[in-house]
Amino acid sequence: MDLGLSGRKAVVCAASRGLGRACAEQLAAEGAEVVLVARTAGPLERAAGEIGAATGATVRWAVADVSTDAGIEAVLRACPEPDILVNNAGGPPPGDFRHWDRETWYRALDANMLSAILLMRATVDGMIARGFGRVVNITSSAVRSPLPILGLSNGARAGLTGFVAGLAREVAPHGVTINNLLPGPFETDRLASNFEARAEREGKSPGQVREEALSKSPARRFGRPAELGAMCAFLCSPQAGYVNGQNIVLDGGAHSGLV
Ligand code: NAP
Repeated sequence: MDLGLSGRKAVVCAASRGLGRACAEQLAAEGAEVVLVARTAGPLERAAGEIGAATGATVRWAVADVSTDAGIEAVLRACPEPDILVNNAGGPPPGDFRHWDRETWYRALDANMLSAILLMRATVDGMIARGFGRVVNITSSAVRSPLPILGLSNGARAGLTGFVAGLAREVAPHGVTINNLLPGPFETDRLASNFEARAEREGKSPGQVREEALSKSPARRFGRPAELGAMCAFLCSPQAGYVNGQNIVLDGGAHSGLV
């Protein structure tokens, strides 16, 4: 299927590795011009070079921390009028809410809720004026199945999800869609560090924790980032124009609720 993304301008946040990078790879493979964003220049430059070489697409990069106003300005300088915005940032740490003060909560809200809202604020009116736009927010399966240890993530991402539910309907008549991708466990650096943290807490080896998690997965495996990237590219296509305001779980069937 030709996803009709050739020449579309895309900005992908938190994209030097992991899920963001996988989204950038698939968008570039479909012919979009992509700007990769992350906080560290070296890995960004490498990722942009590799994706450009593999796809032949124009791939640029911008150093920015999307949890700050300066970072959001840098993203917009690098790509002032995106047709496609993929919102993403590093996830907050797990822990016990008794240890989290106001500053800890603000950091989680800035990274995993407000960064996406402020980037949408800066870009959706342009998308509306041009009659086409796609926003994809990477959130978490914890939005559907909250885990007690991920309270910061549960809270911040639920806030973003509620906000998007309203805005998606407001922009719908103008060719603009906003959807959220809710990953379960995917093979990324973040998953490996989560397993290491859990292993230390529970006095187990990271390998043991990994095996336990695998045994709970109906698919008996973790997600491949390219699978999430492909879903992202499809949601950004004209073919997905009637999919809006949705929370799409990618977890190999682990979430067993009907909705
Ligand atoms: P990852 O492999 O650790 O990659 C994170 C990427 O984000 C890196 O490129 C990092 O580069 C960049 N980044 C982090 N904070 C940033 C910020 N404030 N501004 C700009 N760039 C930033 O993580 P991942 O596994 O792809 O996860 C991506 C998101 O999905 C996270 O929010 C995570 O919690 C969520 N998620 C992941 C899974 C999973 O199993 N992997 C499951 C559910 C939810 P720099 O460090 O250089 O900035």
